[in-house]
Amino acid sequence: MDLSVIIPIYNEEDNIPALYERLRGVLDPMPLPGGYEFIFINDGSRDQSLALIQTLAARDSRVHFINFSRNFGHQIAVTAGLDRAEGEAVVIIDADLQDPPELIPQLYQKLHEGYEVVYAKRRSRQGESAAKKLTAKLFYRILANITNISIPVDTGDFRVISRKVVEALRRMPEQNKFIRGQISWIGYRQTYLEYDRAERAGGETGYTYRKMIKLALDGITAFSDVPLKAATVGGFVVSGVAFLVMLFTLYARFVSKDYEPGWASLMVSILFLGGVQLIAVGIIGEYMARLSANVRQRPLYIVSESNLPEPPLPQQR
Ligand code: UDP
Ligand code: MG
Repeated sequence: MDLSVIIPIYNEEDNIPALYERLRGVLDPMPLPGGYEFIFINDGSRDQSLALIQTLAARDSRVHFINFSRNFGHQIAVTAGLDRAEGEAVVIIDADLQDPPELIPQLYQKLHEGYEVVYAKRRSRQGESAAKKLTAKLFYRILANITNISIPVDTGDFRVISRKVVEALRRMPEQNKFIRGQISWIGYRQTYLEYDRAERAGGETGYTYRKMIKLALDGITAFSDVPLKAATVGGFVVSGVAFLVMLFTLYARFVSKDYEPGWASLMVSILFLGGVQLIAVGIIGEYMARLSANVRQRPLYIVSESNLPEPPLPQQR
C-alpha cells in the first residue's frame, strides 16, 4: 500500500460526499501502483456521518472506517487512524475541506525528495473569527518559545508523513496527544509547503473553545516544563518582594514610628499572595492531572465497529 489518508470526522455530513469526490479526483491520477486507502474515523458524530461513510465503504473497498463509541477528540481520532494505517506514506487531513486535497500530490512529491515529514503551513486563513486567528497565532508563538523542540508555527495536522514516522508515533504511548508536537519531537528531515487555508466548506467547527484550550494545554504540558519553572521563579520573586516589605514594616514600626494601621496593605498582600499561590498550584495541577491519566493506562479510545482488523497489541493502547 502506497498511501493512507486519515480523516477524522465529527459531524461532517455536509462535507463527506464532496471530500470523497475531491480526494478521489486528486489521488486517482497519482502514480500509486501499490494503491491507497481512506481511513475515516467517526469520532462520535451525532449526524448522518457514519451512514455516509458506510455507504462509501460498501461501494469502494478502499474506504475503511473506525467508529468510536463516543466523541474522544480530534487528536485521538487521528491516533486511531495511525494505529491502523498500512500505507508507506500517510496523509492526515481535515474533513471540512479547509485543507485542500489538491495539495496532496505536492506534499507527496516532496516526501520523495528525501524528507520524512512534509507539513502544510498556513500562509493565510479564511472564514475564521478574528478571536480564533489571534489565539491561534499567539498559541503557536508561545509554544515555539517555551519548548526546546521546534514545533512549526501556524501549522495544523495537515501533512504527509513516512512509514518511519508512523512507527515512531505508535511507540509514543502518551494519553494527552499533541500529534504535531510529537512529530517535531521525533525529528528526521522535515520540510513544509505553504498554502492558503480555505473556509470550512459546510457544517460547523467541532473545535469548541473548551477543546481548543485542552489542545493548547496538552501541547504545552507535553513539551515544556517552563510553566512549572515560572511558578517557582514567581514564588521566589514574590517572596523577595514580601521580604523587602517586611523590612520596611519593621523599620516603620520600630525606628521611624511613623505608621498607619495597615488595613489596605494587608488586604493587598493577602489577596496577591493568595492569587499567586493558586496559580502555582493550578499549574502543578495541570501536570498532575496528565501524570495520573498516564498512570491509569486506559486505552485511548473504544471502537464500536470497524471494517479494519484491530492493530496488534503493542500498538493498541
Ligand atoms: N474533529 C474530530 N473530533 C472532534 C472535533 C473535530 O474528529 O471532537 C475533526 C473534524 O471533523 C475535522 C477536524 O477534526 O475533520 C478539524 O476540526 P474542525 O474543522 O472542527 O476544527 P477547526 O478547523 O475549526 O479548527
Ligand atoms: Mg476546520
